[in-house]
Amino acid sequence: MSAYIPVIGLEVHAELLTKSKVFCTCSAEFGGGKNSRCCPVCSGMPGTLPVINQTAVEYAVKAGFAMGCDINKFSVFDRKNYFYPDLPKAYQISQLNLPLCINGVVPIEYEEDGVKKTKNIRINRIHLEEDAGKLIHDDLNGVSLADYNRCGVPLIEIVTEPDMSSAAEAKAFVEKVSLLLQYAGVCDCKMEQGSIRADVNVSIMKPTDTEFGTRTEMKNLNSIKAIGRAIDFEIYRQGKLLDMGKKVVQETRRFDDNRGETKAMRSKENAHDYRYFPEPDILQVNFTDEQLDAIKNSLPELPAQRIMRYTNEYGLSENDAKILVANKILSDFFDAAVKAYNNPKSICNFINGELMRRINLGERTRENRAFTAEQLAKLVEMADTEKVSKNDAKDIFREMSDKGGDPEVIAKDKGLLISNDLGKVAEVIEKVLAENEKAVAQYKGGDMKVFGFIMGQCTKALKGVCTPKVIKEELEKKLKS
Ligand code: ADP
Ligand code: MG
Ligand code: ZN
Repeated sequence: MSAYIPVIGLEVHAELLTKSKVFCTCSAEFGGGKNSRCCPVCSGMPGTLPVINQTAVEYAVKAGFAMGCDINKFSVFDRKNYFYPDLPKAYQISQLNLPLCINGVVPIEYEEDGVKKTKNIRINRIHLEEDAGKLIHDDLNGVSLADYNRCGVPLIEIVTEPDMSSAAEAKAFVEKVSLLLQYAGVCDCKMEQGSIRADVNVSIMKPTDTEFGTRTEMKNLNSIKAIGRAIDFEIYRQGKLLDMGKKVVQETRRFDDNRGETKAMRSKENAHDYRYFPEPDILQVNFTDEQLDAIKNSLPELPAQRIMRYTNEYGLSENDAKILVANKILSDFFDAAVKAYNNPKSICNFINGELMRRINLGERTRENRAFTAEQLAKLVEMADTEKVSKNDAKDIFREMSDKGGDPEVIAKDKGLLISNDLGKVAEVIEKVLAENEKAVAQYKGGDMKVFGFIMGQCTKALKGVCTPKVIKEELEKKLKS
């Protein structure tokens, strides 16, 4: 089985975050009542004229810059003709020979067999096109219904060279592309809402082969997990075919998430001839150098730059910086917290420690937070300046993250604020010892076990005055004297 080398190329589709659709003014937002976000243009009425959304073009170019592409100063739209009920026009406006972006590269990092690896995945092209509608299959009544809200939502298609050779690489690639698009501010990359999805092309070859094998394509995979499973199954299936002396058929296969298998959908022989031709209703795109420079300069901070800022300016370790940056929501949250309390290392430790621990325990998601970055910053500062103990800070955080609230108020309510009034501490301990003469005598007589009891009495009496650590120190001093 392992005698074959897998060859994998991806086509990633990402919906752009523009307010309106790519060729009309309908809202491009996800959701909405069925067919409530359509007009004659995006529902394909004859005689209507599309007008290109400049922001969509700009976003596609931004995506290109984020992935190290060259931008074509001259770019053309084409009609891709095919019939499907989710496409009322019976053609999709796309780009064939002159896409907006070409020749990019996306570096990936991934782990395979416990070893950390890196690789550069080449991008063949990124082009701008429109999304199709959605079919809702009502099996009960035996009908399919069409919702055209998604028709005309701007989409970029990112096409890689066949540079990947395992599921781990493909998964890392899609994750990296998602991250780049999110940092570039052009796509929210919510896979569960279909705003990013991938077509996966897989073939296998022998190490001695000089040409790639026949490939199959799995379309519209909408989770990282499904991408990995579809690839693994396909490598296995093709390997078994070749082992038996059979041939792989070039075809589109559907991945069945429940069975974890791929099934033949249609073969290339009867695949569509799209009869592409230049779209006559849309102007060609012409960029000047100045315009492209302006778009490039408007790009927000990208992951690599942010990692540099964290390591160089904040002194974080590369590992810590990468953990933060790998999640934009978390990283933005960290930045906001550092604004409120300028101690990046301390805040990073808390986020990568306590917050990540809660997230990994499944107690909370990165997205829904009951507390603000400022509140978290305040808590970290309180712990750093010993207004609360480090241990109590974790309890306070737990409450904050469950119910929200100001850490100082929570600390006060729970009696965890340290007043550091050592005079008061000494006084109270004195009193407790006087009230528990028998226990003190036992302790001094060598029975160390009663220390816990005495400590408990002191802690109860000193709740809200100081931390257990201070109590313990003071108590030990007193008992020795
Ligand atoms: P099409 O126009 O039929 O979609 P492309 O040449 O644009 O074909 O390739 C689509 C995707 O398939 C690209 O991501 C490419 O890297 C990948 N690909 C091409 N040949 C192979 C192969 N032999 N094995 C695996 N992937 C391949
Ligand atoms: Mg394709
Ligand atoms: Zn419309």
